[in-house]
Amino acid sequence: MADKNSDPVVVIGLGRFGTSLALELTRRGTEVLAIDNRPKVAQSLAGRITHIATADATDLEALRQLGVPDFYRAVVAIGGDLEASILTAALLSELEIDDIWAKAVSRQHGQILRRIGAHHVVFPEHDMGERVAHLVSGRMLDYMQVDEGFALVKTRPPKEYVGVPLGRSSLRRKYGVTIVAVKSRGEEFTYATAETELTYDDVVLVSGATEAVERFSELP
Ligand code: ADP
Repeated sequence: MADKNSDPVVVIGLGRFGTSLALELTRRGTEVLAIDNRPKVAQSLAGRITHIATADATDLEALRQLGVPDFYRAVVAIGGDLEASILTAALLSELEIDDIWAKAVSRQHGQILRRIGAHHVVFPEHDMGERVAHLVSGRMLDYMQVDEGFALVKTRPPKEYVGVPLGRSSLRRKYGVTIVAVKSRGEEFTYATAETELTYDDVVLVSGATEAVERFSELP
């Protein structure tokens, strides 16, 4: 198919994570086949997701009957029941699904999922915990770990950078960070340039090594 990103997606396990995922994909216009083994779940989401089936995802025949082998992409969103999560991911791998995503609740769980063929493993609870730790303990307004050791942070400019054109601020040399965008009160984010002068009210997006952006966002 021409555009894999708009292909239908199978979402297995409609707990809090799987339900949000399936609803958001639906809202974005992606066709979703959602599967959960609790009949009540299908009843409560009826009409809000394209297709919902009540089935045990650890049953290969059930997956075949639902047409899962025809899908390019599938997400295993089962977290609490490790056995079910691992068995389901293994079956998707056996069915040769091209793009398997799986949610893990621990490092070990993630390692097993990768070994049995998941192409992408996500750690929503762990990642969210890490993110909230940054928000509650400092001045950051938002925090995103972009890659291992690299982050993007939304914060207010420290005093020493207010009223100075960024090009003359020695920000990169001193703190190893880059201000990529600026938002003034009541306006949208725009790219920061060498001429940009920040005010106390501005919000900035800062990128750099995790420790560097942490240090920067702790400046008074
Ligand atoms: P969350 O923490 O996101 O709420 P849970 O792990 O608690 O996630 O929820 C997982 C969902 O997966 C539940 O709705 C559960 O009914 C479903 N589930 C568990 N085992 C199976 C299975 N074998 N087949 C299909 N769905 C399953």
